[in-house]
Amino acid sequence: MAALLSITAQGKSQPRGSGDNQGYSRVMAQFLAVLDVDSTLIEDEVIELLAAKAGSLAEVEEITLRAMNGELDFELSLRARAATLAGLPVSVFAEVGKTLAVTTGVVELIAGIHAAGGRIGAVSGGFHELLDPLAAELGLDYARANRLEVEDGRLTGGLSGPIIDAQAKAATLREWASDCCVPLSQTVAVGDGANDLEMMAITGLSVAFDAKAPVRDRADLIMDVRDLGQLLPLLGIRRS
Ligand SMILES: [Mg+2]
Repeated sequence: MAALLSITAQGKSQPRGSGDNQGYSRVMAQFLAVLDVDSTLIEDEVIELLAAKAGSLAEVEEITLRAMNGELDFELSLRARAATLAGLPVSVFAEVGKTLAVTTGVVELIAGIHAAGGRIGAVSGGFHELLDPLAAELGLDYARANRLEVEDGRLTGGLSGPIIDAQAKAATLREWASDCCVPLSQTVAVGDGANDLEMMAITGLSVAFDAKAPVRDRADLIMDVRDLGQLLPLLGIRRS
């Protein structure tokens, strides 16, 4: 399947932004990699870290597991989990953000993709409040996630803005591919949960990363070692 991506290492370095579309608008890229965040880009499930602060971890863990195995509708499960966070102060974002563990190989992966003229984004059923600082720190080209609603400095337990579910992840990948002028055949999606299946279905290469059963069954490739640097040779890029 790696042959689906014909990647050349002639990319020039470009000014790098964080978040959507910053610095790269309509600049042709060699290819685009889009990663899931929770348990893929990072080792953690962010909502569980937030729930631990809210005292609702057991409840949230059960809902998360059922959602990731495809037993529960994602939006309903997201809303149910977010509701348990009501009352947390916004300072919890910085507190939890400091504890996030980036998956082994992420820095190498991002550097390798950029050196080869590719773009890399992260799309998450988790939350912008945690993803944005991480995306800026890592130099991701694109990042998108859900937003937790805040009033008077506290989480309401609701969500604001569009829901990033499986369909929205796929739509986001299409949008970013179009933004950097990359055909879908030159895209790769990497994820571990049922929520990643829609975007994985439209890419040139789909990778199940230490993934749940439904994702393993439908991916082009399965990676079981939690080292994202291993993605580079699959993209035709030599590891440094
Ligand atoms: Mg995940």
